[in-house]
Amino acid sequence: MTYQTDLKLFIDGAWRAGEGRDCHAVINPATAATIAELPLATEADLDEALAAAKKAFPGWRDTPVDKRSATLRKVAKHLKENAKDIGALLTQEQGKPVKEAIGEVYGAASMFDWYAEEIKRDYGRTLVRPVGQRSIVQHQAVGVVATFTPWNFPIYLLAKKVAAALAAGCAVISKPPEETPACTLAVAKAIEAAGIPQGVFQLVHGVPDMVSRHLIGSDIVRKVSFTGSVPVGKHLMKLASENLQRLTLELGGHAPVLVFDDVDLDKTLDMLVPQKFRNAGQVCVSPTRFTVHEKIYDDFVQGFAERTAKVQMGDGMDDTTQMGPLANERRPEAIEKLVEDARSKGAKILAGGERGGNGYFYKPTLIADASLDTDIMNHEPFGPVAVARPFSDLDDALEQANRLPFGLAAFAFTNDLKTANILGDRLEAGMVGINSFAISGADTPFGGVKDSGFGSEGGKEGLRTYQVTKAIHMG
Ligand code: NAD
Repeated sequence: MTYQTDLKLFIDGAWRAGEGRDCHAVINPATAATIAELPLATEADLDEALAAAKKAFPGWRDTPVDKRSATLRKVAKHLKENAKDIGALLTQEQGKPVKEAIGEVYGAASMFDWYAEEIKRDYGRTLVRPVGQRSIVQHQAVGVVATFTPWNFPIYLLAKKVAAALAAGCAVISKPPEETPACTLAVAKAIEAAGIPQGVFQLVHGVPDMVSRHLIGSDIVRKVSFTGSVPVGKHLMKLASENLQRLTLELGGHAPVLVFDDVDLDKTLDMLVPQKFRNAGQVCVSPTRFTVHEKIYDDFVQGFAERTAKVQMGDGMDDTTQMGPLANERRPEAIEKLVEDARSKGAKILAGGERGGNGYFYKPTLIADASLDTDIMNHEPFGPVAVARPFSDLDDALEQANRLPFGLAAFAFTNDLKTANILGDRLEAGMVGINSFAISGADTPFGGVKDSGFGSEGGKEGLRTYQVTKAIHMG
């Protein structure tokens, strides 16, 4: 599919473009070429969106749940029917291999399908009271929601927030990332095609700081949900304190992977290496700090390096590509600095360690024996870099895993049940994967602890974040 260029805003049920708005260049990261110009929302656009959301909210909240559910089902159907075309847009804007991109569209559809059903079973509860009295607890839509989503999974992360919020009966104003507009506009088109009423869902690209200040600065917005970096999350939390808006913050991590000496090393490596380089490592739960029992450490790094060197890097639209470019110019620059810092402090670069190609490519990289004071051991790389260090025993492994302020995901590979149970209890993370990377899905609460943020997305918990709890007492 060729890349579409009619990029627009979706406000109050209408598509808006031109009319003197500033524009942002959309770049294909595989070539660094500009492929489109994106109109950016003005303050007047945002005011219009806020007013439309306020007006639309009561009608959607009071729409019978069967009808809301059927609308969400239609969104999912539309996404699945157009997955190939939408996936191609995503790859051209973000770089990931097109198979991964199409998979992302199906993942987004699964969010709409799942919340369409979950909302039907959103029972409250009845408290025990004397005869003739009733006290009930029920959940109601929180109101107008503002969502801010990043460019690494622009379709899936948007759907995760929007499906739950719409199911709950909220009106939503979404600001997706400016790097990947066409694929998120395709989600808006699916929502429009499903017949969502005017003003219930709106999509505004714009200068992030201006848009977030304006939307969060309005008391029309009652809930803010953000996925992105820790500094921006903290900034939005300060903004939300003015109007006391509820917040969900998913702020990334630096996931440890503990590998014990009782595993089948070849099978484990065959699983770990593709996971590391999925979406070029631009994944908030990307396995990054490989902490390996000292008995198998040398074999581990050798096997990891060999497999890393074989990862096929290229344009995501090419079927043979296993890893595409990074999503924007900032990423290879950041990775380059992290790798050079590690190199200068004596770490060994066992694979990759340099840029490649014309676009924003950085080669799949393995760094071994980086000291704990290197930047890469302390800052989320958000790119195709793995680091490896040995551990001596379970306590040492846990100490290394838990030493950072992040706590999104942690992984461990062992066949020892006792060790697995202790790891499940002691790893400081919102999600723990033991012999598994399957930690995210429509039915699964996903969220972090410590600097990785708070609040869950997905599952029943994801629905609750777009609701308020009300107790009604009758004497
Ligand atoms: P960034 O911190 O500038 O932006 C991160 C995201 O927040 C982007 O989507 C951006 O559009 C948005 N953003 C930035 N400033 C904002 C503001 N004032 N108001 C609202 N939204 C705002 O960094 P970046 O260069 O885009 O990404 C770098 C880092 O962000 C990565 O290293 C990673 O740590 C983090 N990140 C995390 C996730 C995640 O899934 N948790 C996704 C993308 C980026």
